[in-house]
Amino acid sequence: MGKSTLFNRLTESRKAIMDNQSGVTRDRHYGYGEWTDQYFTVIDTGGYVVGSEDIFEGAIRDQVELAIEESTVVLFMVDTMTGLTDLDKDFANVLRRFNKPVYLVANKAETTERYQSAGEFYELGLGDEIFAISAQTGFGTGELLDKVIQHFETAGIENPEEGIPRIAIMGRPNVGKSSFLNVLTGTDRSIVTDIAGTTRDAIHTHYNAFGMEFILTDTAGIRRKSRVKEDIEFYSTLRSVKAMEESDVCIVLLDATLGLEGQDLNIIGQADKAKKGIVIMVNKWDLVEKDSKTADQYKKALLERLAPMNYMPIIFASVVEKQRIHQVMEKAMEVYQNKTKKISTSKLNEVMQAEIEKYPPPAHRGKYINIKYMIQLPTPSPTFVFFSSHPKHVKEPYLRYLENRLRENFDFSGVPITIFFREK
Ligand code: GDP
Repeated sequence: MGKSTLFNRLTESRKAIMDNQSGVTRDRHYGYGEWTDQYFTVIDTGGYVVGSEDIFEGAIRDQVELAIEESTVVLFMVDTMTGLTDLDKDFANVLRRFNKPVYLVANKAETTERYQSAGEFYELGLGDEIFAISAQTGFGTGELLDKVIQHFETAGIENPEEGIPRIAIMGRPNVGKSSFLNVLTGTDRSIVTDIAGTTRDAIHTHYNAFGMEFILTDTAGIRRKSRVKEDIEFYSTLRSVKAMEESDVCIVLLDATLGLEGQDLNIIGQADKAKKGIVIMVNKWDLVEKDSKTADQYKKALLERLAPMNYMPIIFASVVEKQRIHQVMEKAMEVYQNKTKKISTSKLNEVMQAEIEKYPPPAHRGKYINIKYMIQLPTPSPTFVFFSSHPKHVKEPYLRYLENRLRENFDFSGVPITIFFREK
C-alpha cells in the first residue's frame, strides 16, 4: 500500500536518529514531521488493518480507532494500482463515524494512467478532493501537506493555567516513570485540581508539592483497559507523545544501568524538535557502583553522545531511595524560567554585537555579511531573529556560534534555541 513509505517521507528529518539505532524502527508508530515551520506528529497505523478479515474486531479496531481519535487530520491511503476495494469501502464507513477531516490519498500515482484513475475513489464519498501522490517519489506530497497543515493553526495547545509549568514525565518502559509519578504525587494534599485536557481523556493535574507549583500532563499513569499487550504499548506511546506535546518541560528518565540507547535518543530528539524544555534524569543511580568521579564521567560521556543536543541539565537520581527528586523538580522549574524569559532588545544587542565583533560571520564569495541588529520573538520557546545583509549566506557553523554565545551570556540551560536570519 505504501503507508510506511509515506510515513517515512513525512517524518524524513528525524530519520537519521530513528533509523540508525537498532530496534527503533521496528516498533515505530509515530514520528515527528515538519512542513513550512509547522510541526506535527504522524501516527502510522500501518499493518494493523491489512490482512484482517474483520477490521471491526478486537485489538485491531481499537488501535486504528485510537489513532483516529487522537488525530487532528486523517490521511486515508488508497492504492491506484489495485483500485477501489471492498476494504476501502468498509473503512470509509468507519471513518464517517468520526468527526475528523479526512484526506483521501491515492498512492502510487507515478504513471499518467494511475494518476487519472484516482478519480474512481470519489465513489467513497470522503472529502471533496483526492490527492494523487507517489509516496515513493514524493510527487504530490507537498500539495497534500499544504492542505493538511491548515488544520493545525487552530489546534494550538494552550495552557489553561498560564504561568504554571506543565511537565511531562517521559522515558521508555521500565525506567521508573510510574514510581517517579507516585513519589511526586504521593505528597500529602499535593493535588490542587484536575484539569480537563484538550483531548477526550487526557487529565492534567495541578500539584503543589515540594513548595513548587506545577501541572503534570498525563503520561503512563492513566491507561485504558485493553485486551492485548501490543495494544497497551501502542496506546501508551500515543499518550506519552500527547503528554509531551502538551507540556512545557519534559523530564526524560534514563536507566543508569543501561545508559543512553536508541529509544532514549529518539524521545529526546522528539522533545528537542518540538522545542520543549528538557531535563535528563538518570534514574536508578543507586544501582551503579561508583566513586567520586563516576557521575562526572557519566555526564561527560552522555553529553558527548547527545551532541549537538547537549544543552540540557543532567541529574543523577534514585526514585527508590528518594535521592535528588527535589533537585530534578527544581531544575524543571528553572528550565521553565529559561524557556519563558525574554531578553530585552537593548541588552541582547549590547551583548551579541560584542560577540559578533570578536568573530564576524565569514564573507561568502566576497559578500560581506553585516549583522545590523537582533531581537527575541515573543514565542513560547526562545527564538531570535538576526537582521543582516545576505542572510542566505550565513552557514550552520555560524548559527551554532551564535547559539553558543547566547547560551553563555544568558542562561538557556535545558531549552532549544531557534535562530533565523532576515534581510535588512
Ligand atoms: P515505568 O515503566 O517507566 O513506569 O517504570 P516503573 O516505575 O514501573 O519501574 C520499573 C521498575 O524499576 C520497578 O521495579 C521499580 O521498582 C524499579 N525502579 C524505579 N526507580 C528505581 C530506582 O531509582 N532504583 C531502583 N533500584 N529501581 C527503581
